[in-house]
Amino acid sequence: MSRTLIDHRISPQPGAARLALRRLGDRMARHRAAIQAVQWVVVASYLVLVAVPAFLPLPPATAHLWNDLTLFAQFAFWGVWWPFVLLSMVLIGRTWCGVFCPEGALTEFVSRRSLGLAVPRWITWRGWPFVAFVCTTVYGQMVSVYQYPAPVLVVLGGSTAMAIGVGLVYGRNKRVWCRYLCPVSGVFGLMAKLAPVSFQVDQDAWLRSQHRGARPAWVDCAPLVPIRTMRGASACHMCGRCSGLRDAVRLDLRLPGQEVVRVAGEHANPWETALILFGLMGVAVGAFHWSASPWFVAAKQVVAEWLVEAGIVWPLDTTAPWWVLTDYPARNDVLTLLDGGMLLGYIGVTAVVLGGAYAALLAVGLRLSGAWTQARFHHLAQSLIPVAGCGVFLGLSATTVTLLHGDGIEVPLLDAARLVLLAGSLLWSVVLAWRIAGLWLTGPRRFLPVVGVAACGVVAGFAWALLFWIW
Ligand code: SF4
Repeated sequence: MSRTLIDHRISPQPGAARLALRRLGDRMARHRAAIQAVQWVVVASYLVLVAVPAFLPLPPATAHLWNDLTLFAQFAFWGVWWPFVLLSMVLIGRTWCGVFCPEGALTEFVSRRSLGLAVPRWITWRGWPFVAFVCTTVYGQMVSVYQYPAPVLVVLGGSTAMAIGVGLVYGRNKRVWCRYLCPVSGVFGLMAKLAPVSFQVDQDAWLRSQHRGARPAWVDCAPLVPIRTMRGASACHMCGRCSGLRDAVRLDLRLPGQEVVRVAGEHANPWETALILFGLMGVAVGAFHWSASPWFVAAKQVVAEWLVEAGIVWPLDTTAPWWVLTDYPARNDVLTLLDGGMLLGYIGVTAVVLGGAYAALLAVGLRLSGAWTQARFHHLAQSLIPVAGCGVFLGLSATTVTLLHGDGIEVPLLDAARLVLLAGSLLWSVVLAWRIAGLWLTGPRRFLPVVGVAACGVVAGFAWALLFWIW
């Protein structure tokens, strides 16, 4: 029996936990109506929280998140939803996408009556997850999406409108938007590789079901996952529809990170590497850094003085509409063109410097070990998913902490928790790198790529330490 079949064979005698998971998966398949009801409740709540605050006056200084809809929506989206959905990917895969996501539910719903056009090649371009993540992250900073409700309507509402538009045109009963274009799909796909649960296909059972001669069962997978050959959780939305299919598909446990070691090497590509090194560990760091960075202030001072000396003062006092650059004079919160330019420059330089440093460290470690190939470089980069995901989670949860602090609620043991998470994610990445390097190397040379990954983790940890403890 091949290694592939062994890895994906489902034990005929599962323990209690695995049995419970199988039953849960089967229940998800049987109770589609209940899942759809949940989705519509989430859709209704989401639409209210996205749309209504944008038309209300900004909350007064005395408002609290429990008595003001705008503050409640701000906390729901940025304090709870975004950081904890990201965390849920690592724990239970993309269950959010398949069971709760309002955009996924809406694009799939309208797709039932779509034009049914074939998905064009430009939509399937593999660079979209990286480009969409970078554009959304940077634009969100330009308009202060975490602080004000109107930009939320533009960013989230715009994304939802595009999801509906794509659903109305391409595919039938499908989630073409989610599969190829959603700005967070790439990030979620990376995080889901770490999850200890996934829907898994028993290849032996699948083959046996073909030999029995009966007409094979079939499931219409909305995010276009080829179920028969599915070997990971990256693209699967955990909707449960295929649970029990041909007695071969089951919700089951797996070793956390197993997909990164055993499967990711076959599919790792430059765009995923770019998303990890330059997106999550670069652009996201710059986006969280700039408003707290003394380097940003110093650089802006230098550029401003240079502009004044050159007699070019209009960038210092020209503003833009709120949907281009933050513009709330009543809150004393306005970005000039100089601020906007510096913001873009700061995030760009951070991404290039950090991403370039990570790429160089990985490449040097791999080259010194004598195991260099481009495919191995991209596979090794996947070992940094825990460090990348943990950093973004900590950055996002800083918004949670800030919002709670604004209402007089302090998070206990915050520094210790941040330290433990950073150290734990670094350790996880090192273990993954060790296991990946073991696919190609033995003996002392196996340590060299691992040292490269550890060095990346230390650099990333220092970048977050600057934000949390040094500045
Ligand atoms: S493979 Fe498709 S149908 Fe099966 S659980 Fe995943 S998303 Fe649902």
